[in-house]
Amino acid sequence: MVIASAMQPIWRFMMENNTQLKEMIRSMVIDVLQGQNQESASSQPIKQAPRDQVEPGVFDTVDDAIQAAKAAQARFEDCTLATREKVIADIRAAMRPRVQELAQKTVEETGMGRVADKVLKLNLTLDKTPGVEDLVTECETGDNGMTLYELSAYGVIGAITPSTNPAETLICNTIGMLAAGNAVFFSVHPGAKHLSRLLVSELNQIIAKSIGIENLIVTLREPSIESAQEMMLHPDVSLLVVTGGPGVVKQALQSGKKVIGAGAGNPPAFVDETADIKKAAQDIVLGASLDNNILCIAEKSVVAMRQIEPQLVQEMVKAGCVLIENQQDIQRLVDLTVLPNGTPNKKFVGKNASVILDAAHIPYNGDPRLIIMRTPKDHPFAVIEMLMPILPVVTVDSFDEGLDVCLMLEAGLHHTATMHSLNMERLNRMARKMKTSIFVKNGPSYAGLGFSGEGTTTFTIATPTGESTTSARCFARRRRCCLTTGFNIR
Ligand code: NAD
Repeated sequence: MVIASAMQPIWRFMMENNTQLKEMIRSMVIDVLQGQNQESASSQPIKQAPRDQVEPGVFDTVDDAIQAAKAAQARFEDCTLATREKVIADIRAAMRPRVQELAQKTVEETGMGRVADKVLKLNLTLDKTPGVEDLVTECETGDNGMTLYELSAYGVIGAITPSTNPAETLICNTIGMLAAGNAVFFSVHPGAKHLSRLLVSELNQIIAKSIGIENLIVTLREPSIESAQEMMLHPDVSLLVVTGGPGVVKQALQSGKKVIGAGAGNPPAFVDETADIKKAAQDIVLGASLDNNILCIAEKSVVAMRQIEPQLVQEMVKAGCVLIENQQDIQRLVDLTVLPNGTPNKKFVGKNASVILDAAHIPYNGDPRLIIMRTPKDHPFAVIEMLMPILPVVTVDSFDEGLDVCLMLEAGLHHTATMHSLNMERLNRMARKMKTSIFVKNGPSYAGLGFSGEGTTTFTIATPTGESTTSARCFARRRRCCLTTGFNIR
């Protein structure tokens, strides 16, 4: 403005005395204004991140974040499938060298799990989360033409992630949700906010570098329960994908929106007398001890037939468990890890067995993977989803009794169960009766996530709402497109 007023007398002189110059400047001003208009029209859908936003994709308010994601998705849905494949391939490649650091940071921030195990889980996520290939088109043709069923984007998905697998869930959901053409608002657990923010901003940079779109995934600088609830009710969020405990799934179901709810589990591992006992013991220890048992699919109890129980327990000890036989020690562990209201003491969730044993003043050797003990079927360690490396062993006298105990312990969650047996009829019967999203026969529970088992992986197992092991196709709307004028060449 200062320069403009200083220039005014000269400007007036020039304009009054030179019509040619006047016309030239007039047309230049028109050109500039038209150019500005064109630019703002084309860039209107992209809400730029605030100037002080040092972390791409990280916002201060729910609405700003969702508006930015909405604008990004509007551009993304016009991209080709090859573009989606490219961005997913770039995410896999760029995140791979970061796995160790992400695992370390997650353990540091949440205080849960083991770095080496998180490395395995993160590599599994990058290797086996399905992408665009998961969106399978269906087609019907006949005398009246052709009808296509295609899986297309919802728009902006509101994804809620847990503290137990924060990085795995965030990357897994990003791959699956982008594959289906969506943008994602991540409502992350406040206890994993630093790691999650870092991840969202890094993924944003990878995505922007890969396909030139910013804010396809967004999150909040300061996540909270309140902001998660605000997101659930936001009119521009088309689908909620909730990975967490029963409370948050219930809350999301009250939103009136479509919800994919991945809730809690309490998976039993049944071992009968026909099983390869040594292998069963090793599989159970591997599955139950992975990341200190914080996976929802991890074995939370063992149900063993009486005749093989002593051998099974012995083999579990050989496989890295510490067996607690003194009843007072077991009670001390209960007092330490279960709160009076019957919920696990968060102080010990996901902690190493040695930390729990130290706190209970129970001696041990080395670095045990799991703490095991014999308990009745209604013991707190058996019925509560502890999410700790504590595994009770319940003894039964028959297959039928064992199945009933497993059903009781799983408590109708229909999440995950495992069985070790060579009796096909029993394996089949238990699989049918448990009605779980994941049922693993003769392997560690994580085989059901595609880790040393066949199939793809996921960290969002939606049992309450029925999608089971989720993938890109769950994050897409099935739409019907009908052509009446032929295209039947049979
Ligand atoms: P949590 O339920 O405490 O938190 C999960 C997420 O929900 C967090 O982002 C949290 O901030 C949010 N949240 C919690 N209560 C809320 C409410 N009332 N309103 C809005 N948002 C809310 O769970 P956690 O301790 O982080 O994770 C462990 C639980 O999640 C276990 O029960 C485990 O079985 C379950 N889990 C399930 C799956 C699955 O795929 N089924 C996967 C991982 C974890």
